[in-house]
Amino acid sequence: MSHHRVVIIGSGPAGLTAAIYAARANLLPFVIEGEPSSTSDQPGGQLMLTTDVENFPGFPEGIMGPELMVRMREQAVRFGATFLTEKVTSVDLSSRPFGIWVRNEHYTADAVIVSTGAQSLMLGLEAESRLLGHGLSTCATCDGFFFRGHEIAVVGGGDSAVEEASFLTKFATKVTMLVRRDELRASKIMQARAFSNPKIDIVWNTVVDDLLGDDKLEGAVVRNVQTGTTTTLPVTGLFVAIGHRPNTDLFKGSLEMDENGYLLTQEGSSYTNIEGVFACGDVQDHTYRQAITAAGSGCMAAIDCERWLESLHHGAH
Ligand code: NDP
Repeated sequence: MSHHRVVIIGSGPAGLTAAIYAARANLLPFVIEGEPSSTSDQPGGQLMLTTDVENFPGFPEGIMGPELMVRMREQAVRFGATFLTEKVTSVDLSSRPFGIWVRNEHYTADAVIVSTGAQSLMLGLEAESRLLGHGLSTCATCDGFFFRGHEIAVVGGGDSAVEEASFLTKFATKVTMLVRRDELRASKIMQARAFSNPKIDIVWNTVVDDLLGDDKLEGAVVRNVQTGTTTTLPVTGLFVAIGHRPNTDLFKGSLEMDENGYLLTQEGSSYTNIEGVFACGDVQDHTYRQAITAAGSGCMAAIDCERWLESLHHGAH
């Protein structure tokens, strides 16, 4: 068993920024960074699945997602953060010090920062891993700019899909929404937004069966589920917007979550319902989901954590 003042679970921009700040506050954070073989719990988080990142301040020429994460990790190591490349299997947050297990290995911590992130739901096609970041995207805010003047498609019929499609019409010449039923799940106000946008074409009762292209997307094979007719849509961009899932299974029953499983934090802070447990990044943010907002909230978590530990020292808890 080894004890740490701060254990950080997850190593996307939130976890690594928390690690940099906690390390610089002399807290010697121990980061359990995830499992390389996994696509949901991989060290570095969702940016490991992207290519060019052009919206992270400080990189005017852009930077590849994986390289950005390597640099953040190096920065954390430089100030004394240590890393375990494993996935947490269970936690006990019911008493302090908190308990964290990686299979049979037991760790304890005075404070825990949860930055386990979220994952975009995907279609489950084999071609997805090959084309993600090469025409296939899960984030219009991040990648819309790359599709200036292109014809693209968005999969999904919820609020996210309409929001992404509307945003993408700023860049694309035409946005086809591929909806698997004959109605949108999106709220009425969002539906009206989709229907009134002349650049959005909604194709009903349609699913994506395959994606074409070896190293960049060249088209989507779509099927009408009522007629069975298959056609190829010649798009260079396809945005999957069928929902997200926060990685919070570990915390069910201990940390408070909303109805979709996102951790609840106290307004304007990273405090969860358990004193000494802080949350940052996409695991508690279903609104912005950006590397820079995750990094910002990681900084908040480390500062909240440091101040809380300091107050313990002074006997405030
Ligand atoms: P939702 O679960 O609301 O919608 C998912 C959509 O994707 C549905 O249309 C669903 O179809 C479709 N879908 C699911 N799986 C597949 C698949 N394998 N193939 C094709 N289509 C599929 O997720 P959202 O991310 O849109 O929204 C999540 C929550 O966030 C909601 O509560 C939403 O209201 C909220 N939100 C609000 C926004 C706003 O108000 N501005 C913006 C974005 C999100 P089906 O309907 O058939 O199940």
